Amino acid sequence: MVTLAVAAVLLVAGLVVEWTIHSEPVALALFWGAILTGGAYPLRSAIRAVRNKRLTITVLLVVAAIGAIALGVVEEAAFLVVIFSLGEAMEAYATDKARGSISALMALAPPTANLITSAEGTETVAVDRLHPGHVVLVRPGERLPTDGTVVQGASWVDASPVTGESVPVEATTGTEVFGGSLNGNGVLHVQVTKEYYDTVLARVIEQVEEAQANRSGAERFADKFSAVYTPAMFILAILVAVILPLLGFEWREAIYRALVVLVVSCSCALVISVPVSVVTAIARGAKDGILIKGGVYLERLADIKAVAFDKTGTLTRGKPALARVVPFGDTHEDEALALAAAVEAGSEHPIATAIVTGARDRGLTVPTAHHARALPGTGMEATVNGRALHIGRPSDADRAHRELGRALAQAEAEGCTAVVLREGTQPLAVVAVADQLRPDAKTAVAELRSLGIDRVMMLTGDNDTVARSTAQALGLDDYRAELLPEDKSTAVHELREKYGVIAMVGDGVNDAPALANADLAIAMGAAGTDVALETADVALMADELDRLPAAIRLSRRARNNIKINIALSLAVVAVLIVAALAGWMSLTIGLLLNEASAALIILNGLRMLRPGRGETRNPATGKTASTPAREDHPGTDLNGADT
Ligand code: ADP
Ligand code: MG
Repeated sequence: MVTLAVAAVLLVAGLVVEWTIHSEPVALALFWGAILTGGAYPLRSAIRAVRNKRLTITVLLVVAAIGAIALGVVEEAAFLVVIFSLGEAMEAYATDKARGSISALMALAPPTANLITSAEGTETVAVDRLHPGHVVLVRPGERLPTDGTVVQGASWVDASPVTGESVPVEATTGTEVFGGSLNGNGVLHVQVTKEYYDTVLARVIEQVEEAQANRSGAERFADKFSAVYTPAMFILAILVAVILPLLGFEWREAIYRALVVLVVSCSCALVISVPVSVVTAIARGAKDGILIKGGVYLERLADIKAVAFDKTGTLTRGKPALARVVPFGDTHEDEALALAAAVEAGSEHPIATAIVTGARDRGLTVPTAHHARALPGTGMEATVNGRALHIGRPSDADRAHRELGRALAQAEAEGCTAVVLREGTQPLAVVAVADQLRPDAKTAVAELRSLGIDRVMMLTGDNDTVARSTAQALGLDDYRAELLPEDKSTAVHELREKYGVIAMVGDGVNDAPALANADLAIAMGAAGTDVALETADVALMADELDRLPAAIRLSRRARNNIKINIALSLAVVAVLIVAALAGWMSLTIGLLLNEASAALIILNGLRMLRPGRGETRNPATGKTASTPAREDHPGTDLNGADT
């Protein structure tokens, strides 16, 4: 930076001397000064590149500058060095700016917290001194310092800056809250649950930084491109120097034009056109609760052909409630429910939670279970009061059974998920639980379709009747029911063969194998589950389905932005090269135009920092800013967002 400033000053001084006192030797000395100070760094990096047998853009520039000196146009050589270094500095600044927008996220969490030390006393401490178990005081309007559980007070907490969740949630005793969220009108006592470096916000920031560094797709492009482009320009310049004299041009003029060709093709614009957009798009997404784990996933997101949803917890709320208990034989209803709850007490499955809560709500005494064992995707078994019990997915034999079959069919016809409690082979009861569709599921499916996603479907371990009615209610293209976890992976694999790029959307916890098999693993509600945040390719922080179309829109906007950048830089270089060949340009003008085009490309890339239509929400309504009706064909949004 300092050398650049010195070189620039020397250059300007040289020009002034030349114009005012017309002292050629003094001006020449100043120009040389500029070349030597400003040129040392490019020269060194060019030598390093040549040693590694690589032809970089800096090499082109250094050759051009040396050529200019050899031709005796020292003033222009000085210009080359200074303008080129200036361009480099500008690019570095722009990349920093794109990356740095993530520091805005960091600023969300306050640096200090009010630690409650005694009954009335609080002490202001730095957040890194908070540890799990501490209780902090959060006043109205303050930001939460860290992740925790509310232990006292009531308020509304707005997590939108962290997760993109659109509406503030009511926070009372027991509510989990995230650092960086905004507290509403109440005073809260929050018990810290995580070290500050382990909070959701800290991890999002870490992931975004990693994602921005790991822009492999874009980098590969840049590498491949310059591997061909730079030598090609070099050869072109040599051809110009050789062929023009044969056409009767003076050799001096020929070499000058060859140097201009080198200089105008020295553009970093082409090389940075992709990364600048990618890095910016990832930063943009993070601000809207869309965490994209790298350039590759950003590209894939734009290319999705089919989407497969998990049902429970993704398309439905995943918090089913107990609907009904149908006992058999001489078992009493409450007895059956208490036994079922006992077995399920050890399970974290949503069905289990519904049954346990249902039993508690009825005031039943739940006995203790022993030897409890989860059977993933099918059910749960345990011994209760010496009875070997099993609860889970109905078998074909159950459906064929007269009494049992009828109870199952009836519950499922009502949209419930029905499971069978049995002792050995003896059925004791059918327990039916009902989940609710997410309110935004239907619109999300419609939006995906309007974005041109050919197939939107559902994979579920639940029974066919429930699956069919869900698929119908949401307008899905297809569904597969009664899948075991490994069947889901196989299904994803098949869909992939059939439709091309497939995204699997799940809660990221019990869908891990299927997620791993998809081209793109998308986890919802990732702020709530650590595994999902770590393993997904795209993590939607909020537990809201509309983030999915938003993510796809963002990726397509990025793709469009990249295309514009590539086209623009190619066009500019082409025009400049033609002009250079024709001899319409001096070295200095060529390089200036060149750097100006790079600036344009960077500005276009930084445009991605602004939210696009339908990506963020309208704060007034809490809905997405887009109107699905206007997006009836896939191209509209792209063009609309970029003009
Ligand atoms: P989904 O695909 O809807 O997320 P899962 O694969 O988790 O469903 O479970 C599939 C089926 O297995 C459930 O519909 C249920 O019949 C049965 N099941 C799984 N776990 C349990 C459990 N803990 N208690 C009762 N039934 C269960
Ligand atoms: Mg599930």
